[in-house]
Amino acid sequence: MIPVRDDLRQLDGYHSPQVDVRVRLNTNESPLPPPDAFRDALASEISRIEWHRYPDRQATELRHAIADWHGVSADMVFAANGSNEVLQTILLTFAGAGRRVATFEPTYQMHAQIARVVGSEVVEGERDADFTLDPAEMRRVVEQHDPHVAFLTSPNNPTGLVEPAERITELLELANGLVVADEAYAQFADWSALSLLDEDRPLVVTRTFSKTWSMAGVRLGYVIGPTWFIRELDKVVLPYHLDAAKQIAGRLALRYVGDMDERVRLIVSERERLSAAMSALPIDVTPSGANFVLFRPTTVGGRELWQRLLDRSILVRDCSGWPRLADCLRVTVGTPDENDAFIHGLQEVLT
Ligand SMILES: *Cc1c(COP(=O)(O)O)cnc(C)c1O
Repeated sequence: MIPVRDDLRQLDGYHSPQVDVRVRLNTNESPLPPPDAFRDALASEISRIEWHRYPDRQATELRHAIADWHGVSADMVFAANGSNEVLQTILLTFAGAGRRVATFEPTYQMHAQIARVVGSEVVEGERDADFTLDPAEMRRVVEQHDPHVAFLTSPNNPTGLVEPAERITELLELANGLVVADEAYAQFADWSALSLLDEDRPLVVTRTFSKTWSMAGVRLGYVIGPTWFIRELDKVVLPYHLDAAKQIAGRLALRYVGDMDERVRLIVSERERLSAAMSALPIDVTPSGANFVLFRPTTVGGRELWQRLLDRSILVRDCSGWPRLADCLRVTVGTPDENDAFIHGLQEVLT
């Protein structure tokens, strides 16, 4: 065997076990597919792709469609293969070897994972026991480590908490580096950091087609930020990284905003129903602004509850062994039937 880079030797991969079950509520996907009209339009346009040619390197039409939807200019948009590749490109460009990346834990594990892969040092801030973030802790991290890139995830994953706007503006005032607001779940929440974007402010907002757009299979995400920021990403990313079919899929999806809004409304109302049903059981429930709910049973261990749900062919995410999340599980909001099955499963185990 050939030894890997010294700094990668300790690194563990990203794990999310996929088990064959009746009710799969573990990866925060949409439980509903995109509309049939989208599939038909996509099939028809894909049949006309000139497969012997490279795709549009700038993804011009896709960028314009995303920009129009958000009411920004196309030179404020950069798209890539999932928001994970967007995050990787940001970190390759503004972090990398010898630089520092700040996260406020617990949060999305890929921020620290990608930062380490690109050779950066990860500096971790700690959230309070209720998973909110104390501004004094942000100040400590910034003063001690002066990070080149700092992440806030809103709504946060796996907690579901929406970050108040003040946290983002406070971090911008404190930090010298780039602030990345990861908004993979933004449409499920009641505000977005997009309203804070400004050409003179080092704030960028990442989004994905994987959750609200019901397109996890496509692998498409994007970031909106100042034009000087986007120009740097365009230099770093591989040429032709977005294939022709994906560019079409993203552009066509945006024609069905109404369907997306409707799915989001259903999921938000199901989320509230799930949270209320769980609160009636011996369970601590974290208030969620996303399409999932973090919860902690108080009369059995988290791992035991996870197994007993799995015995009923219901799969949720087991966070109970993660740092700072002892006994916590995370359930993705599913269809009304899937949510009923989950609630009944919980009731059987816990009462
Ligand atoms: C799901 C998720 C993403 C999405 O990543 P993709 O690569 O676009 O599928 C990004 N950030 C957070 C916080 C997520 O939970």
